[in-house]
Amino acid sequence: MTKRIFRSICLVAISVFLASVTLFMCVLYSYFSTVQQNQLKMQTHLALQGVEHEGIEYLKDLDINDYRITWIDKNGTVLYDSKSDYDEMENHLQREEVKQALADGVGESSRYSSTLTEKFLYCAERLTDGTVIRLSVAQNTILTLILGMSQPIAIIFVIAVVLSFALASALSKKIVKPLEELDLDKPLNNKSYEELSPLLNHIDNQQKKIKKQRGKLKQKENEFENERIKTEQMRREFTANVSHELKTPLHTISGCSELLSNGMVKQEDVEKFSKQIYTETQRMINLVEDIIKLSQLDEGAENMQYEIVDLYSVAENVLDRLQSEAEKAGVTLSLDGEAAKIKAVPQLINIIIFNLCDNAIKYNKKNGLVNVEIKNEDNNAVLSVSDTGIGIPAEHQERIFERFYRVDKSHSKAVGGTGLGLSIVKHAAMLHHAEIELESTLDKGTKITLKFPK
Ligand code: ADP
Repeated sequence: MTKRIFRSICLVAISVFLASVTLFMCVLYSYFSTVQQNQLKMQTHLALQGVEHEGIEYLKDLDINDYRITWIDKNGTVLYDSKSDYDEMENHLQREEVKQALADGVGESSRYSSTLTEKFLYCAERLTDGTVIRLSVAQNTILTLILGMSQPIAIIFVIAVVLSFALASALSKKIVKPLEELDLDKPLNNKSYEELSPLLNHIDNQQKKIKKQRGKLKQKENEFENERIKTEQMRREFTANVSHELKTPLHTISGCSELLSNGMVKQEDVEKFSKQIYTETQRMINLVEDIIKLSQLDEGAENMQYEIVDLYSVAENVLDRLQSEAEKAGVTLSLDGEAAKIKAVPQLINIIIFNLCDNAIKYNKKNGLVNVEIKNEDNNAVLSVSDTGIGIPAEHQERIFERFYRVDKSHSKAVGGTGLGLSIVKHAAMLHHAEIELESTLDKGTKITLKFPK
């Protein structure tokens, strides 16, 4: 950039210089021409007066080198010439200045020499006897004027070039300096050219945007990392829980069967031990089934088949299957509401309603009630399962949807719970974008509501 500015300034300075020299020369040339023409006129008049008084003798006595004097009679015959042999000179009647002088008294003209390096000025005046006196003088052409002044012009040119170089160098550095000192990290702190402020503002805005985007990206990265850590931790906890949950029934089964095989169990206790083995095996089967369901849900809903499902008929079917269990627990089941159709995975809806109703029976009281209600509401299909059971203490309500979280572990075990039922419900509901609400009062009962968007 410095170089470019430098070159431009030099170019402008030299161009201005050359233009002014040319202009100056033209003015000078025109001025000198006028002066010379006036002088020639005066000299011609003086010569005329001399000849009028003294005749040809006056001309012969004249000692002039710069001027050429010619005396011509009215027929154009040359009577005298100061430079050539006038006897041999051609007729001058057709010369412009002579023609004019014969007609008007005075005539002027100018002609270039054959080489073009010289121009001649002519002035003629008529005498009283009708003859004509003509003076001519060589005039420098503009070319000879320039050639004559070439030395001073060259000296001035060199001085001008040196000066413009020095000036251009200093100026270009001065112009570029503020640009070199720009601090682009803090665009608005610069005190530079006013013309640069839109650019600096733009840079500042861009930097702010980039900063903001970087911040957002960092935040997203952090969120992603936290999510990853949480998932990892959950997976580890889950594995530990599964191992623990499986170990307990296996130990019991192993202990019972060892005693049985060693014949160390009294005949009357054999049934009791066999029953325990059966119960623990059932618990393990339930647990493994729940784990399989959960891991299927973990894989996502991509491979699952979505169909139009009527919540009411699924609930009917589930209550049918749970009827005998409810009777055993002394609990009455009922179903209210209307058909409500949604697009869903039928097996998952089945599991949701089954787990909710199963819990409502398991955590109920003798002579308790379980009511399932299905209704349509705005853009949702609403399923609610309410019971008149033991309720959930407020401090546990937030956590019962976690894997293996139970309010009362021994109660859950006694009723054949795995601690996974509600987490399966939550996961399946999430895949259907359903909202879950829980209302529960200790000793009074629980109501869990799911709202499925249609
Ligand atoms: P579980 O197999 O132990 O029933 P869940 O995930 O289904 O596991 O439920 C978690 C815990 O939530 C249960 O152990 C129980 O303490 C509590 N719970 C679930 N449903 C009810 C309910 N209807 N009434 C009272 N407590 C409930």
